[in-house]
Amino acid sequence: MNGATSGPVSSPLETVLNEVFGFEAFRPRQRDVCLSAWRGRDVLLVMPTGAGKSLCYQLPALARNDGFTLVISPLIALIEDQVTKLTALGVGADRIHSGRTRAESQEACRLWRERAIRFLFIAPERLGVPGFLDFLERYKPGMIAVDEAHCISVWGHDFRSDYRHLGERLQRLRPANIIALTATATPSVQSDIVTQLVMDRPEIFIRGFRRENISIEIMEMTPGARVDAAVEILKSSENLPCIVYAPTRKAAEAAALTLGAGFKAGMFHAGMPTAERQDVQDRFLRGDLDVIVATIAFGMGIDKPDIRTVIHLAIPGSLEAYYQEIGRAGRDGLGSRAILMYAPIDMKTHEFFLEQNYPDPALMDMLIDAVRAGSGNRDEICGRLGLPPETVRNGIEKLWIHGGLGVNDVGELRLGNKGWSKSYLAQRRHKREQMTSVMRFANASICRMVCFVEHFGDSDDQKTPCGICDICKGRGKDLLAIEAMETADTRAATELMLILMPYQSKPSGQLYREHFEDLGWDRRRFDGIVWDLESRKFCFQSNQTFMKDGKVIDFIRVGLTDEGRSYLHQAKKAPSPAAQKRLIEERKSGTSNKKRGKQKWYGRFSSSRRERD
Ligand code: ADP
Ligand code: MG
Repeated sequence: MNGATSGPVSSPLETVLNEVFGFEAFRPRQRDVCLSAWRGRDVLLVMPTGAGKSLCYQLPALARNDGFTLVISPLIALIEDQVTKLTALGVGADRIHSGRTRAESQEACRLWRERAIRFLFIAPERLGVPGFLDFLERYKPGMIAVDEAHCISVWGHDFRSDYRHLGERLQRLRPANIIALTATATPSVQSDIVTQLVMDRPEIFIRGFRRENISIEIMEMTPGARVDAAVEILKSSENLPCIVYAPTRKAAEAAALTLGAGFKAGMFHAGMPTAERQDVQDRFLRGDLDVIVATIAFGMGIDKPDIRTVIHLAIPGSLEAYYQEIGRAGRDGLGSRAILMYAPIDMKTHEFFLEQNYPDPALMDMLIDAVRAGSGNRDEICGRLGLPPETVRNGIEKLWIHGGLGVNDVGELRLGNKGWSKSYLAQRRHKREQMTSVMRFANASICRMVCFVEHFGDSDDQKTPCGICDICKGRGKDLLAIEAMETADTRAATELMLILMPYQSKPSGQLYREHFEDLGWDRRRFDGIVWDLESRKFCFQSNQTFMKDGKVIDFIRVGLTDEGRSYLHQAKKAPSPAAQKRLIEERKSGTSNKKRGKQKWYGRFSSSRRERD
């Protein structure tokens, strides 16, 4: 460890910054972090992509006499990139990963053993290779950097199983201090990283999430109106170049067709041949294209400084993703726009993907039963249960990740441990909460940038309103107040609110089953309407759990807000409680005057609603 424990400034940090890295000055906040790592503290650093996190472990490592640093990084490409950069600076660095030959790996070990390199980069899986941890225990690092540390968090990330053992394995390499770095970590992920890595009283730096030059504008509109609205926006040349994010490949193709008619536009999604994708990306980076219409597949490593606008044609799946995507605008520091077009109905797409990627626990139990009954692979299970291969594949993958299923020596599925559902359900719940957070963000009435800064837990930030978002400019939702609900849904929403009148709140599943399933309603349509009502502040939803047979079950309660109640009352839209009860009974029993009654309510409700709007 370095002897320095207190006192500011007199450190060799500036010297290394100038002489090794060739930089004039630290970027904002880099120095504090370097100082802390240099002093031997455990550090958790959360800064946006491109902010310069690598320097925050590399510089202190070089400034310390014992700064032989083990770097754990999830991707070969990232490892290669860093090793190339360090070598170019004349710093000794090597790596061991699956893309290297045995001889090359042995050479890297020799260099490390002889202290001929300062940095050894590995993927987390390497620590699971027999003997490797023993080797490191004999030739200990002075520091350990865990890059992209969000990968270790069980919350919301499909962590690789070796990440789960990282904390316990790294303990054997103490007293080296641990520096964990990531660009995407909400407070729950942050504390999870600290726990999983068994960090010792870490100093936590969450910095730099505010972007001064991006004005965020959120527009509620029906899906069909959005591409035309994008065309209007892009007609002003100051809004170009622009990235248009579409929710699906199909949507990207349709939007590219329309935008291609009026602009130099290209398309980018994961279904296209690699060469074609690369070509579109290159042309956009060169400035030959003004618009790129893309799915979330686009953007990794995109560093085009002059992107003026990022338009989202639908609500993204998480605030982390949204921040990352709009963060590609205005890297040159000039004024830029982020425009999000959405309607509550967008949540249905995310619900669909959630159900597909994180299957219902009951289905997971079926998969386990199938393995118990002797099915050893996916095809056998598909055949046995008659389920779609995609669902079975996702289910098995999640069970494997959470330990509910394993694979034996010959690649056959075998039973795992019983406790898998706890972490699986927590992850599923976290995914849903991420979706909820984006909806809340879109519907919030405080400064968009302040929302972000709070979401990421940037405690340094003064939380002053940005002054340039739609909320700060007082334009809020009314900027393009387009009625987002279809008429039929307005009716359904009325019905739902009236049913909720007598209750504080009700579990949404029960609400659906008791009142809507019989009417032939699709569950997703029902959920979409609940979302819509929440966005109008007429309803609230709260995530809840209960235990059943030793398992945690998630559910959502829905209730009317005060606004919802007073809206019904003020406009005298609600029938008296007795009349309500009668009407609900009538509906349930399916009496012939049910329909008439319903139409009468609807008629009154929707006409006065229209007036109000
Ligand atoms: P991150 O890991 O946070 O995404 P990187 O560590 O890859 O970011 O750094 C992004 C870029 O910023 C790199 O090209 C790096 O050389 C550069 N950089 C980092 N710190 C400084 C600095 N103090 N002065 C100038 N450039 C810097
Ligand atoms: Mg990085």
